[in-house]
Amino acid sequence: MLVVRGGTVVDTAGVREADVAVEDGTITAVGSGLAADADRTIDASGRFVAPGLVDSHVHLMLDGRPDPMSVAGESEAMHSYRAAARLREAVRAGVTTVRDLGAPGTVGVDAARAVEADVLEGPRVVAAGETITMTGGHTHYTGYEVDGAAEAREAARTQLKRGATVLKCIATGGVLTEGARTGRPELFADELRAIVEVGEAAGVPVAAHAHGTEGIANAVRAGVDSVEHGTYLDEGTAELMAQRGTYLVPTTKALVGIDRGGVESGIPEWAVGKNDAAFEAHRRSFELALEAGVPVAMGTDAGTPFNDHADAAEELELMVERGLSPERALDAATVDAADLLALDDVGRVTEEYCADLVVLDGNPLSDVTAWQRPRAVVADGDVVRDDT
Ligand SMILES: [Zn+2]
Repeated sequence: MLVVRGGTVVDTAGVREADVAVEDGTITAVGSGLAADADRTIDASGRFVAPGLVDSHVHLMLDGRPDPMSVAGESEAMHSYRAAARLREAVRAGVTTVRDLGAPGTVGVDAARAVEADVLEGPRVVAAGETITMTGGHTHYTGYEVDGAAEAREAARTQLKRGATVLKCIATGGVLTEGARTGRPELFADELRAIVEVGEAAGVPVAAHAHGTEGIANAVRAGVDSVEHGTYLDEGTAELMAQRGTYLVPTTKALVGIDRGGVESGIPEWAVGKNDAAFEAHRRSFELALEAGVPVAMGTDAGTPFNDHADAAEELELMVERGLSPERALDAATVDAADLLALDDVGRVTEEYCADLVVLDGNPLSDVTAWQRPRAVVADGDVVRDDT
């Protein structure tokens, strides 16, 4: 038995002093005096014990390079080796669950299997397989191209057959595909609906990449579970999202990474131009979403330019800067993200939940940057880091 002893537990249920006992990957007790029976302890005295972070939007096969399209010609083996390195970085930084929203072939779904089987060290992976996009659409260079509802259905079922536990559809153009216009609708309403129907039948959530007003509305009306990015959101659609409980995964770090890098870093000029055009609209969309009461889940789009998997916690700082309360930020990265990912035993420090824990020097409710420097990390019961 492992016991994280003497800390202050902080999760969606509040703040309390308690030891946390872990056996076989599960939290078995939260209370006082548990350390007496421990085989191993982590000293959390004077520190805070929180659930590990859930990053709802990553690309494991991308490494933050300035031009992500440059991976297009590489083999699946190369993507996989890179994904293995990114998994290790993420988990040591306190990210204990990731949702991979698009990788070629079975790179994403096999990452999930490899972590589950202890072949790789990493966070639990929920994977979409390949993105489902229109012919020539955003991410077509690594995605599955479809035209028409029948092909969209076939593509969704193909991802499920390969082992996907979420589906990812492309509702509009995007910043990082040359030629795609950021806000323009791509998959049509009937194609989006076909993908959602397949997801619903299988009990698998559907995520939609969507930047434009019309494309976001198409995706929300089709019944997706989350809108990824959400730039150029309007008030009406924000209200509809709030009503339907459609999550916004803002991926603020993706836009900030491109903004910080700029053209001189090697990011293609067309991508920087599209990012500049979207930047303020994205900030405004997030404000609109908060005003309307749209549920928010944390996602970084890690792997995109200067957006490293190990820096996921910075997304929380950015969201708080833009108006999210630290309490809601905690929920967005734990219980709410787990809800979006359909994981019912992740994101709380309580009995019967997965033993995903971070030990932090500061209280993340008073200092949101405390998430960025975990002293210790327990992922699915395994101690992957202990600098206490
Ligand atoms: Zn993405």
